[in-house]
Amino acid sequence: MATNITWHPSLSRAERTALRGQQGLTIWFTGLSASGKSTVATALEQHLLHMGLAAYRLDGDNVRFGLNKDLGFSEADRNENIRRIAEVAKLFADSAAVALTSFISPYKADREVARRLHEGDKEGGLPFVEVYVEVPIEVAEQRDPKGLYKKARAGEIKDFTGVSAPYEAPDKPEITIRTDQLSVEECVEKIMEYLHEKGYVRQTKEIK
Ligand code: ADP
Repeated sequence: MATNITWHPSLSRAERTALRGQQGLTIWFTGLSASGKSTVATALEQHLLHMGLAAYRLDGDNVRFGLNKDLGFSEADRNENIRRIAEVAKLFADSAAVALTSFISPYKADREVARRLHEGDKEGGLPFVEVYVEVPIEVAEQRDPKGLYKKARAGEIKDFTGVSAPYEAPDKPEITIRTDQLSVEECVEKIMEYLHEKGYVRQTKEIK
């Protein structure tokens, strides 16, 4: 723990939110590999950006190769991976942006840590919207866009979620999307409906 650090007084979150005209929040996608997290999160991010909102997606590509490049896939490393992602997402949300995270995040306890970090902070909390991207494993395995299930079944990847490592489905996610039943656009619509209902996004304009 660093000592001798003093926090500089700055704008309150409420002031920042009012000045930006946007509610900060985190949309946390969880689900099996190939369930559709990145596809839906990317489509949603684009939709939000076209509405003129600040939105940014954290995913394996921009986190695993940078901030978390020292981490592997053991349980301890996965815990730390998610903890850091949650802290970064919270910073984006605190800046009055929409943070979207698309990681398998297979452990309930880790997702709970992420939720508590958002909901329980001293400035009254930030919304944490858990989106369970649900598909039967057979569907995910059939899609297998990166050939990972095939490798995992052949024993070439150890600790692969759904094959040789557990996936703990959320009990009470804010939203569940079945990507084997809804199109990508319908999944985005379902999430947008929720965000509007909660008053987290107000703008309706589309910037082409
Ligand atoms: P994940 O990020 O969960 O590993 P990806 O988004 O990378 O998953 O891959 C999901 C695959 O499933 C993609 O090839 C995508 O085109 C396909 N897919 C089919 N239908 C859907 C849908 N309704 N929503 C999201 N992905 C879908």
